[in-house]
Amino acid sequence: MVKPRLLQIGRITDRMHDALAPHFDIDPLPDREAREPFLRENGPEYVAILTNGHLGVPEDVAVATPNLKVVSSYGVGYDAIDVEAFAARGIVVAHTPDVLSDEVANTFVMLWLAVSRELIPSDRHVRSGEWVRAGSYRLTRSVQNRRVGILGLGRIGRAIADRCAVFGADIHYHSRSRKDAPYTYHASAVELARAVEVLVAITPGGPGTRHLVNADVLDALGPDGLFFNLARGSVVDEAALVRALEAGRIAGAGLDVFEAEPKVPDALKAMDNVALTPHVASGTHETRQAMGDLVVENLRQWLEDGTVRTPVPECAHL
Ligand code: NDP
Repeated sequence: MVKPRLLQIGRITDRMHDALAPHFDIDPLPDREAREPFLRENGPEYVAILTNGHLGVPEDVAVATPNLKVVSSYGVGYDAIDVEAFAARGIVVAHTPDVLSDEVANTFVMLWLAVSRELIPSDRHVRSGEWVRAGSYRLTRSVQNRRVGILGLGRIGRAIADRCAVFGADIHYHSRSRKDAPYTYHASAVELARAVEVLVAITPGGPGTRHLVNADVLDALGPDGLFFNLARGSVVDEAALVRALEAGRIAGAGLDVFEAEPKVPDALKAMDNVALTPHVASGTHETRQAMGDLVVENLRQWLEDGTVRTPVPECAHL
């Protein structure tokens, strides 16, 4: 029997490949020069695309696949995929919500503790021999009983709130709409920042949230405030963030995402009051496996009945 053809953008695990190979004829998208002739020859035969939230579906691939029916993306954020255009073509786009929420929330806690308790400089204090030469490390700031502001109270935002509650936090939030949640709502990012000591961005990326955190928001957070970004680099005006940190207009930051990844401003790398991770908020074996399994499940369900388990909201009606 001829298997339906699946175009693979980016790398996948052996586990994902082995689960899909009995059902789909899988081709990786070739590199630069080979890509155009490959797409011209094979593009019309693909009914499915497997991609991830970073690579998305480039325009040339979308145009070269007129018979596409389903896109299954590895990751919950889908700002690199033109989901409205796919929905208009009747193509369903699936992503991987929920299975990564706990891990991303845990990563926030890791960064929060690292910045507040100065993990990176105090680790250096031990390794460099400074502890022996100069004595004890200075006192740091507690994460206990803080006012925490969550910018984007969605699936991950709620998982962050759950964890903050354990630290006795007074939780505030801003989202486009007020939620049924026992936290204090603020009508704007500036108002939220003004009310809290710790601000965490966990919205989607894309044009709707570009530079949602700007100089005004950082100034509202204030000189004792800590800022964390686990959303997308585009959500924050990175130059304004660097200026605010340099001038001491905020106290510190923990950042997993950046405007021009994998490039990170040298100024941030030089700061002791900043903790940096390379876009790995969901990056554990366990969570990445769960994400991979959901990518596979969406494709296999589509094969069975033309639906996916976790469509992006823009495609939920298909
Ligand atoms: P959800 O869709 O469940 O939540 C998103 C939240 O953001 C909602 O509360 C939404 O508000 C809010 N929001 C959207 N646009 C705006 C806006 N313009 N202003 C204020 N709030 C806004 O998504 P998840 O919680 O599952 O994921 C959130 C994001 O986290 C992902 O899209 C991705 O970008 C990022 N992420 C990053 C990872 C990393 O590795 N660093 C890993 C996983 C996710 P409303 O409900 O009112 O529309």
